[in-house]
Amino acid sequence: MGGESQDHRAPQAGRRAGRRAAADAHLPALLALQEPDALPATEQWFIALDKDGLRERALRAIRNDVRWIPAWGEERIFNMVAHRPDWTISRQRVWGVPIVAFYCERCDTVLLEERIVEHVARIFREGGGADEWYARPARDLLPAGTRCAKCGGTEFRKETDILDVWFDSGCSHAAVLETRPELRWPAELYLEGSDQHRGWFHSSLLEAMGTRNAPPYKAVLTCGFVVDGEGRKMSKSVGNVVAPADLLPKYGAEVLRLWVAAEDYTEDIRLSNEIMDRLADAYRRMRNTFRFLLGNLGDFDPARDRQAYAQLDEVDRWILDRLARLVDRVRRAYEEYQFHIVFHSVHNFCAVDLSALYLDVVKDRLYTSAPDDPRRRAAQTACYDIFQTLARLMAPILTFTAEEAWRYAPGPRSESVHLERFPEVPLEWLDDTLKAEWDRLLEVRREVAKALETARAQKLIGSGLEARVRIESAPEDVPGCSPPSERCCRRCSSSRASTSRAAAASACGTRARTSPGSSSASTARRGEVRAVLDTQRGGRARSGPSHAVRRCVRVVTRAR
Ligand SMILES: [Zn+2]
Repeated sequence: MGGESQDHRAPQAGRRAGRRAAADAHLPALLALQEPDALPATEQWFIALDKDGLRERALRAIRNDVRWIPAWGEERIFNMVAHRPDWTISRQRVWGVPIVAFYCERCDTVLLEERIVEHVARIFREGGGADEWYARPARDLLPAGTRCAKCGGTEFRKETDILDVWFDSGCSHAAVLETRPELRWPAELYLEGSDQHRGWFHSSLLEAMGTRNAPPYKAVLTCGFVVDGEGRKMSKSVGNVVAPADLLPKYGAEVLRLWVAAEDYTEDIRLSNEIMDRLADAYRRMRNTFRFLLGNLGDFDPARDRQAYAQLDEVDRWILDRLARLVDRVRRAYEEYQFHIVFHSVHNFCAVDLSALYLDVVKDRLYTSAPDDPRRRAAQTACYDIFQTLARLMAPILTFTAEEAWRYAPGPRSESVHLERFPEVPLEWLDDTLKAEWDRLLEVRREVAKALETARAQKLIGSGLEARVRIESAPEDVPGCSPPSERCCRRCSSSRASTSRAAAASACGTRARTSPGSSSASTARRGEVRAVLDTQRGGRARSGPSHAVRRCVRVVTRAR
């Protein structure tokens, strides 16, 4: 503030001052509710928003120099700055950060100079802070020999107004960032609740624009407020308050942190025991994934046993493709502060891609092959890369779990996972062709699983191993098979089906048998109990490049 405010001190008498006070959100309610005429005339210090183009500069900075997360924050603060009155920064309180001004006892002239403010600030720094203002008489606060510029008087009295607390908090960028060598100005991010567009974000911006002509932050992120499981505001009288500290003994800090990451903070954030129970399950799933991966890497030395990418099984290359896409999505989500996407993507990967599919499929190779079997080492290579990647991706959220797991990682590793960088994905992992084939294969697998479920419900089979699955493909389902012809289809589908058949079989635990070509649905063999499932999704017409599964699954069950 310093000398800049000298011109901005204006006497505001009677009604005008009262109106102004009533419009000020920071005055106590009692004062604001009084009739304006009942207020005493009070001189106020204020910052003129339109002097030196402060308002215009602040508005330009809001538009051009700051990233607002979520984006609606920009309009909110823009309108508040555009329409706010001048900033009244003085408050009439018995204690606070003083406005460092003096008055000449003889002629009442204001003494407010940067030199004197610095002098007083030094006294505060070396002594007891702002208390010095109240403990010392004016002459002990002023440099020796200070005289009134107007009348030459040497007796002064202190200003009794203090600074608006929003002005105090608005200076935090200077007090924090500029006094610590490890920090830089401006801040990367200001983070607070969505009410601070009126408060801290606002006062910080105006203060920094006035003194440094730049916003004090590069980005501003706001979050909603914590509400109960039904979305109601927490209140003691309703009895729905869930205090984080009360959750710690039951769930631990790790699950609580997971909850913070998992909720979409741009809206109000729900918290209840049910929600925490769900997250505890999710946590256990991710923890078990770490455990399973590590448990199968006990005899794996990456330097000695690692298999080249080209030596991996197709399903290994598929999971690495999935992993590569996960890394891309998660890194982007971190950069966008979308932590719930981080959580949901990683959790989904653990639950669906790993637990329900990949790890289930490779169990045979891991458990029953000879230790040095290249195919076992191939599965371990993929597991090793998955572990390395997941531990780093989740380290910012599952701080302790990732660190604990890291200590058991095979091969050379840094002292802590928190000293690691985020994973970089080898280009070869991304394989669009493989992905397209597997998307289709998994679609078939889902249809098979559904048909098996139907057969199971009809008591045709018990476990999936009792089923005999016949997968028939329509000519139009086989890529490169146009125009459809019997001969072409036989050739195409038999070569194409080789992978699918084996993978589908190992994936769902069934003995699969495919009959290539377009055998009709009505040619059930004698002795077979047949559950026919038509998958006519996507219509009959050939539509676009996607080879949706149209008519490919007949689950045929064989009674024993
Ligand atoms: Zn004087």
